[in-house]
Amino acid sequence: MMSGSKRRNIVIVGGSIAALTSAQILRAEGFGGDITMLSAEACAPYSRVPLSKAILAGVAGHDTCALPLSSDDFEIRLDQRAVGLDDRNRVIHLLSGETVSYDGLIVASGARARRLSRPGQRGEHVIRDMDDVRTLSPRLRTARSVVVVGAGFLGMEIASTCVKLGLTVTVIDRDPPLRRLLGEYLSAVVVDRATAAGVRILQAPDGVELIGTEVVDGVRYGEHTVRADVVVSAVGDIPNTEWLAGSSFRNEGPLVVDQRCIAANDIVAAGDVAAIKDPSGTVARLPHWNNAVRQARSAALALLHGDEAPIAEPDHYFWTEAFDLQIKVCGLIPGSTVPVVLERNDDTNTLLLQWIAPNGTAVAAASVNRKMPVNKLRRLAHEAVVASS
Ligand SMILES: Cc1cc2nc3c(=O)[nH]c(=O)nc-3n(C[C@H](O)[C@H](O)[C@H](O)COP(=O)(O)OP(=O)(O)OC[C@H]3O[C@@H](n4cnc5c(N)ncnc54)[C@H](O)[C@@H]3O)c2cc1C
Repeated sequence: MMSGSKRRNIVIVGGSIAALTSAQILRAEGFGGDITMLSAEACAPYSRVPLSKAILAGVAGHDTCALPLSSDDFEIRLDQRAVGLDDRNRVIHLLSGETVSYDGLIVASGARARRLSRPGQRGEHVIRDMDDVRTLSPRLRTARSVVVVGAGFLGMEIASTCVKLGLTVTVIDRDPPLRRLLGEYLSAVVVDRATAAGVRILQAPDGVELIGTEVVDGVRYGEHTVRADVVVSAVGDIPNTEWLAGSSFRNEGPLVVDQRCIAANDIVAAGDVAAIKDPSGTVARLPHWNNAVRQARSAALALLHGDEAPIAEPDHYFWTEAFDLQIKVCGLIPGSTVPVVLERNDDTNTLLLQWIAPNGTAVAAASVNRKMPVNKLRRLAHEAVVASS
């Protein structure tokens, strides 16, 4: 890597939280050269988090999720999609045909929604960006029924919002809702609430196929068919790495980086596009907000300070809101382990849970409808406490 003090021109490909955070960290660290952010989107950086919640529900306007640009000290070029990278000559190729040179590159191109429709099929909805919500919202306002494919946190948030909009909602997944992320106990809490709200939850162990000759109008699983006015898929995301295909360091899948978020000489990456390889060889991608922020910080510092930059500790923290449950999770919840219930109030649907490994160490904690500083929850995820009776 070139030394940070020699860099004059850092380019960031991406236009969301990882891109913006890395630019801000570069300036906070005193980087005095040019910073150019190239975003494929036509609108200024915004948070995706409320898209499936308040914005889809129509209780917050599209302008409410704009990310604050605390510094106008860098150039943001909108509607500029990178389509190629020549890392030997340090040049990015744009869709417009233009080229942009850099001496340091931050890859923050995030991910896009995975889709299930076959070529020629139209009408499958997803929620990844503002345009998706602009397309889906009017459809939900005239529709009576919706099938949500995928019962991860995004699918359950969409289902919850659709219930509030008065639709008949079916959720279908290979697994029980949120089981992988929340474990059996907390998943059951969400399922109880969703079912009480009228959501029909179906399990399709072999997956589903979208049906509809031209326009998608339902799903098929096994021998069964479910028709609906609207079909929304929330079946995961695909890292946006195609534009890196011609570079010398490129592999399939997410962009693999080391623990300082370094991908290659003079190139770092952060956020949903990146997966960190730890010294044991484990490669993990954590596509959540806090992780994007944390990696963006490490990536910017690595570009400036190389191997002296701190490593990006994985942040196993995320939150979700569905069916009037505000859930925050720290750590990795072990699937079938029954948590210690530290607090429970059925009137307010409040819970504070802690998961303890067989060796007695705490491995995860979660709060439901309970205001609590994240650091306190983090501590609970690592320090076993004796449950109060
Ligand atoms: C609907 C929704 C709700 C969510 N809710 C939560 C939540 O409640 N809690 C939580 O922890 N996380 C949540 N997340 C996840 C969180 O939003 C992501 O982890 C975060 O947005 C990742 O940020 P990022 O900057 O890495 O990537 P992204 O947000 O994907 O941004 C990537 C940016 O790069 C641009 N780009 C892509 N390709 C190119 C290219 N070739 N050239 C130039 N620009 C390009 C894109 O247009 C975009 O601006 C949610 C995500 C979604 C979609």
